[in-house]
Amino acid sequence: MSNFKKLRQRMVNDQLVARGLHDQTVLNALNAVPREAFTPTNLIESAYRDSPLPIEENQTISQPYIVALMTAALELKSDDRVLEVGTGSGYAAAVLGEICKTVYTIERHKALADTAQVKLKETGYINVQVKHGDGTLGWPEKSPFDAIIVAAGGPEVPQTLKEQLVIGGRMVIPVGKSLKSQKLVRIRRISKDEYKTEDLGGVRFVPLIGAAGWGE
Ligand code: SAM
Repeated sequence: MSNFKKLRQRMVNDQLVARGLHDQTVLNALNAVPREAFTPTNLIESAYRDSPLPIEENQTISQPYIVALMTAALELKSDDRVLEVGTGSGYAAAVLGEICKTVYTIERHKALADTAQVKLKETGYINVQVKHGDGTLGWPEKSPFDAIIVAAGGPEVPQTLKEQLVIGGRMVIPVGKSLKSQKLVRIRRISKDEYKTEDLGGVRFVPLIGAAGWGE
């Protein structure tokens, strides 16, 4: 067994299961995606560390536990169509691509979107489409989505994203008026105009920058 495979199994047991995460679909997905392929070369030995890691453009690849927690909160089914805002390294998009038929992911930094696209192709995630742009506007041509995951913290939940959910759809997003800490919330679309919001706890994300996020 390769060293990375061993580290990956240990990460799933020690960082996810040990913290009470028991969603087998999500555990299998994190056990399948080679996180080292999405980690900057100079940090490859830290690929399975229990923390976020820096990537280009002053951004981060999220901590494995946070990726797992947010993915589990989306309650995904295999035929779901999912939108991710904040592609970053492409790692979380690959995790979503392990579980779901079609994944759309948007990144505001072109260099990150381009690198993620190459890495997702190299690792075989051909069901993930990457777009360079402002994800707070969603992806109208591909909407509606069964699930939306936002991997950056904004001051409020973008109305445009709420409207791109199917009825019964779920969105997980960090929100808060401070740039330093946010509340992770799950929004469920109950009917055309009704949404239910649940608090999933405190988190700290890089800022969501865009038309319905923070200013540049
Ligand atoms: N999901 C990523 C991964 O697995 O590596 C981690 C994402 S990182 C925590 C957040 C990303 O959101 C950054 O790459 C940042 O550039 C991006 N971002 C921030 N605001 C955005 C926006 N309005 N649209 C698209 N991407 C945005």
